[in-house]
Amino acid sequence: MKNITVIGSGTMGNGIAHAFAQSGYIVNLVDINEAALQKAIATITKNLDRQVQKGTITEDAKNVTLKNITTHTDIVTGAKNADLVVEAASENLDIKLKIFKQLDEVCSPATILASNTSSISITQIAAVTKRADKVIGMHFMNPVPIMKLVEIIRGYNTSDEVCDLIMATSKKLNKIPVEVNDFPGFVANKILMPMINEAIITLNEGVAGVEEIDTVMKLGMAHPMGPLQLADFIGLDVCLNILRVLQDGFGNPKYAPCPLLVNMVTAGHLGVKSGKGFYDYTGGTKELVLADRFKKKVTEIA
Ligand code: NAD
Repeated sequence: MKNITVIGSGTMGNGIAHAFAQSGYIVNLVDINEAALQKAIATITKNLDRQVQKGTITEDAKNVTLKNITTHTDIVTGAKNADLVVEAASENLDIKLKIFKQLDEVCSPATILASNTSSISITQIAAVTKRADKVIGMHFMNPVPIMKLVEIIRGYNTSDEVCDLIMATSKKLNKIPVEVNDFPGFVANKILMPMINEAIITLNEGVAGVEEIDTVMKLGMAHPMGPLQLADFIGLDVCLNILRVLQDGFGNPKYAPCPLLVNMVTAGHLGVKSGKGFYDYTGGTKELVLADRFKKKVTEIA
């Protein structure tokens, strides 16, 4: 395994390209949007500069990493020589099915096709290819260069051989892979999203305010970030989307998204990316500032 193609150069794609290139792989980074590719290279350069400043890599290693990455807007030139493709395009079923159909035609029959999807069924993606045994989930965590975990998702038809190879490849990236089966939300989001939803329900019921809920979970459960801050970081639209996948997939009302979450997404309050969620990020300070409507004290919301 030497040539890696990464499809999609957004938040996750640039991190995945960074991780592979830094481990010596030749990376072809593909995006339909040229501006996204340029932004990805700028982000990778900035993150590598930070590693050089911290003394974790040398200036030479930084330059070699950047040299290992080539960008493409055409999937055919970007993917035709790949040993492994990691798809990290937008979380949309139609987009992903179209990409996997195209990859199945463009790539050699031996190429392994992985998806970084947070919630879409790997078995469903595999079903549009003629190589379901070579389709697998490789769910990296954000920010990829820092987070150790890769959730490896076995589709219904993924072969043992492909699973073993992807587990070994993840270790070569200095990550810790964990193998799970293909069910809605896999493990990470099947547990995380109900917790985030419950935190929003707790807020909506007036049990406590945003800061109190986040502080209880941070100091009481040793979580590095409270669930509401984490939801802002992930994107409230993404959280809503995943909860709907869990609700549909298991047919269980316990996954029903809190109406407050639905309202916030409908109103365009998506968290960090839109400037406002449970907290207000428009000031640009490092300190967490509560969004105006969540500033009430516990005694005022009960
Ligand atoms: P993003 O919106 O930041 O980036 C998606 C990129 O895909 C964009 O640059 C877009 O131009 C590109 N794209 C869209 N259609 C394409 C196509 N047909 N061919 C090539 N490129 C295309 O999204 P993201 O947050 O990086 O998420 C990417 C994937 O990773 C999703 O499946 C998401 O569920 C998953 N994921 C996200 C996170 C996270 O925290 N953001 C964490 C784990 C997994």
